[in-house]
Order: sequence, then C-alpha cells, then structure tokens
Amino acid sequence: MLESSEYLHPDKECLSHEEIRALQVKRLQETMRHCMNNPFYKKKFEEMGVTPEDIKSVEDVRKLPFTTKQDLRDTYPFGLASVPLEKCVRLHSSSGTTGNPTVILHTQKDLDEWANAVARCLWMVGLRPSDVFQNSSGYGMFTGGLGFQYGAERLGMLTVPAAAGNTLRQIKFITDFGTTAIHAVPSYVTRIKEVMDQQGIDPRKDTKLRILAIGAEPHSEEQRKRIENMLGVKAYNSFGMSEMCGPGVAFECKEQNGLHFWEDYYIVEIVDPETLEPVPDGEIGELVLTTINREAMPLIRYRTRDLTRVLGRTCPCGRNHIRLDRMKGRSDDMMVLRGVNIFPIQIEKILMQFKELSTNYLITLTTDNDNDNMTVEVEYNEAPADMVALTKEITRRLKDEILLTPHVKLLPLGTLPQSEGKAVRVKDLRTVYQ
Ligand code: ADP
Ligand code: ZN
Repeated sequence: MLESSEYLHPDKECLSHEEIRALQVKRLQETMRHCMNNPFYKKKFEEMGVTPEDIKSVEDVRKLPFTTKQDLRDTYPFGLASVPLEKCVRLHSSSGTTGNPTVILHTQKDLDEWANAVARCLWMVGLRPSDVFQNSSGYGMFTGGLGFQYGAERLGMLTVPAAAGNTLRQIKFITDFGTTAIHAVPSYVTRIKEVMDQQGIDPRKDTKLRILAIGAEPHSEEQRKRIENMLGVKAYNSFGMSEMCGPGVAFECKEQNGLHFWEDYYIVEIVDPETLEPVPDGEIGELVLTTINREAMPLIRYRTRDLTRVLGRTCPCGRNHIRLDRMKGRSDDMMVLRGVNIFPIQIEKILMQFKELSTNYLITLTTDNDNDNMTVEVEYNEAPADMVALTKEITRRLKDEILLTPHVKLLPLGTLPQSEGKAVRVKDLRTVYQ
C-alpha cells in the first residue's frame, strides 16, 4: 500500500467502463447462481423463466425481479439468506419502527469486503494511516458504528469508537487524542461546534481536525459548506444503508462532484418509481441497487426508495465508477401540502443561505380550518437586528422555492430538540393525511 497513491485499490478503482461492465456481468451471473440456494429467489427466477445464462450485458439485470423492504420483512429474519446460518458471523437489524425489523446477515468474507469498501472511501478523501479517526455514530445494530470502525482500522488509522452523544466527552477526545477526522451525521456536527463555542475552543487553532465524513441523512450543498467553514475542514458526503451493508456504498471523491457508487460491489439503476422503467441520465428517479459480491444475503434489484439522478460516468479523479447526485430524500419523505410536493431538503437549502441562521430547523405540518399549514422553526446564531424584516425575507424566499407561504419562526440557539442520531426534520400533526 503506497501512501502516496491516490487509490487504495487501483485495480478496481481505475477500471475502464468496459472493464467495469465485464466484471459486473460476471459477478451478476455468479450472484444469480448463488441466489438459487435461496427458495425465495429460486422461485422468482423460475417464475420469470430467467437463468444466469440470460445475463449477457449489464442491462440484462432488468430481466430480474425487484426486491423490496416488504420482502425483507415478509421473510424475517433469515428467509433471504443464500448460505446456511452456520456460515454467518454477524447480523445487523434495522429499528423496525414501522413493522417487522429487517435483518442483514454477513459471512466473514462479507465483513472483509465491507471493511475494504469503507477503507477505500476514506482513502479516497485523503485519509492515511497517520490520521486519527473518531466515529460519533451509534454502535450496536446501527451499521454506521461497526461499519466505519472496521473500515478505518483496515486503512490503518488510530480509530476512536467514541459512539453517539456526550458532546463534551466527544470534544475532549478530539483535543486530547489529536483527532484529525470525524464521521458524524451533519446535524450533529453543528452540535459539536455549538459546544466548542461554549467551551471557548477554536476548532482551527485548538484541534487538528481536517476531514469530515458526513452522511446517513439527507443534507444540502449549503449545509456542507456551512460545516466546512464552521470547522475549517473538508466535509465529504458518505452514503450507505443497512440493506447494502451500511456505510461504504458510495462516497464523494476530492472533487466533491457527486457520490461515486462502487460498481464492483453494486449494479446501479435509476428507475421511475411508478413505471419501474429506467430513466435517462440526469433525470430524478428511485435508486435500485443489486449486490454483486455478497455471500450471506445477496439482494437483487433492491428498491431503496431514495431519489437521486445520474450526474456522470467519468470524473477528473480518474475513477469511472458512476457519480450520482446527493439524495433528494426518500420517496416517503415527500410532503404533499395542498397538492404541492415538497421535500425537506428544499427548505434546508434556502435556510442555509442565511448566515444569521444556525443549521437546526424543524418543519411542523398542521391542519387548521381544514387547511394544511406549514410552520418552519429555525434557530438563529445571534439575535438579528431586525427580526421582523429577516422573518419576512426568509418567508418570501421559501415561498419562491415551495410555492406555499409557510409560517416562519426564529428561535434562539438551543431551543429546538437536538437529536444525537439522524435528525427529525418533519413533524406531521395533520388530522387528515393526503
Ligand atoms: P434506516 O432505514 O433505519 O434509516 P439506514 O441506516 O440503513 O437505516 O439508513 C439508510 C438511509 O439513510 C438511506 O436509504 C438514505 O435514505 C439515508 N442516507 C444515508 N446516507 C445518506 C446521505 N449521504 N445522504 C442522504 N441520505 C442518506
Ligand atoms: Zn471522482
């Protein structure tokens, strides 16, 4: 491993398009053969009359059935395993707030490949064995904990499993251990900075922080810039989901021009969520992922419900792994108000353009006199000179973006609830759901 190399896995990261596609066809055929060990997929393939020999190009993935979160729930806990349980060494499970939790099983090989993927991402943004990496994810079932832990160790960094919460202790670790890199959800970075301010700690002078991996929840380009300026660091978008192992599915490179999805691990499709037909590059659709090097529990055409679009298939960084736009949100995050479709991220994008405002906000939907209403509460950093004028200006800009007039409330810092995990941005208190 050459520390000066830009690439941790040059043989995979620098493949040409043709080479990527050839590898994907080979790995998809192998995955299909392997999935035949599983009654769910075996039956589906037979019903559709499709065999591994029918896969001659990457596009042939469209001959295969989709897999949904409901399928994972229906087969809970181990029904989608393609290996006997004794070959598995770990499982992760989702919270299951809306029904049966989902379970993903891993063999030792799966865990190794997962750690390699995370290490590749962290190396890509410039982290090296001399760095000190602090992970503020929850550990346990949440994949952001162990996922980053093993990836950072695989790279060779001194890794601090600080876990979620206890911000004072988090900051003490940053200063005492000379932490140079942190993984955190974007909303928590703001909290760390607030507490640093209260402690009189200047991140530029009093810490060695230089790189942040931010992800696990949707965030805007504006919020990223805020975080970078706040701490004097580079912040890179990190995308993952437990069904696809966890972190390490996709990451931005130093160009910060979209998320590189690792195509030696996944086949990426963007489909129209209604028709399930592919959409052209550049158009927004639902992200569909097929795992092509997983052993315990391969998933075919998994519908992620995340909405995004293809930005490009080449990059100045030298990697030809597909680049996707930052997630617009999940299809289930979309709010429908008086017939208008709105994503929380649209509101965040506007709020972050006001330097007077902090990054903590909450959208509340209510029904008043049979009408849907939206209240946007947002904290300010310092009390603005003219509160009324600022509120008006924010309302006007929001209206331009979402075509509805929200009720805007400015609040002092620290008023809104602060989550330690993924931020809750929307409270829907409407009596009649549309
Ligand atoms: P849960 O389904 O309980 O939220 P996960 O931790 O598996 O558990 O969450 C994965 C989801 O989190 C993704 O499907 C996506 O919606 C969101 N997510 C993860 N990383 C990002 C990111 N960088 N940007 C936007 N959304 C993200
Ligand atoms: Zn790149």
